[in-house]
Amino acid sequence: MNMIDPFGRNISYLRVSVTDRCDFRCTYCMAEDMTFLPRKDLLSLEELDRVCSVFISKGVRKLRLTGGEPLVRKNIMHLIQQLSRHLRTGQLEELTLTTNGSQLARFAGQLADFGIKRINVSMDTLDAEKFRAITRWGDLGRVIAGIDAAQAAGIKIKINAVALKDFNDHELADLMQWAHGRGMDFTIIETMPMGEIEGDRTDQYLPLSLLRARLEKQFTLVDIPYRTGGPARYVQVAETGGKLGFITPMTHNFCESCNRVRLTCTGTLYMCLGQEDSADLRNPLRASEDDELLASAIDEAIGRKPKGHDFIIDRRHKRPAVARHMSVTGG
Ligand code: SAM
Ligand code: SF4
Repeated sequence: MNMIDPFGRNISYLRVSVTDRCDFRCTYCMAEDMTFLPRKDLLSLEELDRVCSVFISKGVRKLRLTGGEPLVRKNIMHLIQQLSRHLRTGQLEELTLTTNGSQLARFAGQLADFGIKRINVSMDTLDAEKFRAITRWGDLGRVIAGIDAAQAAGIKIKINAVALKDFNDHELADLMQWAHGRGMDFTIIETMPMGEIEGDRTDQYLPLSLLRARLEKQFTLVDIPYRTGGPARYVQVAETGGKLGFITPMTHNFCESCNRVRLTCTGTLYMCLGQEDSADLRNPLRASEDDELLASAIDEAIGRKPKGHDFIIDRRHKRPAVARHMSVTGG
């Protein structure tokens, strides 16, 4: 059974934000004094497992855990272990996560044991001082130790960096070379206008077309059809032999091939990262012990998946396009 939305797109990818909390406060992602959700509002690990399993029975083939920081959710390894049963039956093709890497050294071995083959690690700079500044207190050494541990456990890593004007734009070539040198793919993401932060997003925004043109002065970038089920467009970098991805929601609309929906840790389903419309799955989940109500709430929500997002960053639009932070819907 598959979930097909009104525009004929097959929804086979679920991203789950397992917590809105994080041990970092990246300046483009969160305000310093974020108010986090009361713990009682969160779906329990058992409830998260139940919703994910219903999605899998309805055709989801790829499941990504994100957040906030997924590895700071208490007992998250228990959820991952439970979900890994769907890998063993073959119903789920991939179970993966996006992490800031701070807890990876501790969990890498278990993640590999539970069938995690690939993860994304977010890292915007290789300079320890700048890393501390952009994350407001993160320790780069610890993240790199986490990457070492994950690679030693046989997990493939893709490094994700957000392009921030006048912060890391002139460093992204070095970061890419470092990633490729360690056998990791590298993806650059445009900043998206999500949630109130202290700074002005217009000052951070850097169109990736410009960055690509800059990189092309130094490297030979060859477009390749490689896809990972996500929205990134990839090039092969001749000089490094590695892959470089661009995620360009602002300058290039990737909505026509969108195959995903996003679940928050309170059981709200967002059919589009860039729209406010959502569906509550927590009530149907809690209203009965069998999954019928939940399954029909999911069908109803998929039937409302919009055609695309309306992100815009310019000087006239001072407010974020969507009010919720990226940490709510999980990037
Ligand atoms: N804490 C984990 C991490 O940092 O990888 C997972 C959640 S984080 C919200 C997921 C991704 O979203 C990260 O790569 C982060 O850099 C990115 N992100 C956060 N806020 C963003 C924004 N406003 N625009 C673009 N990317 C953003
Ligand atoms: Fe935390 Fe990830 Fe947001 Fe940084 S980007 S504050 S690590 S959730």
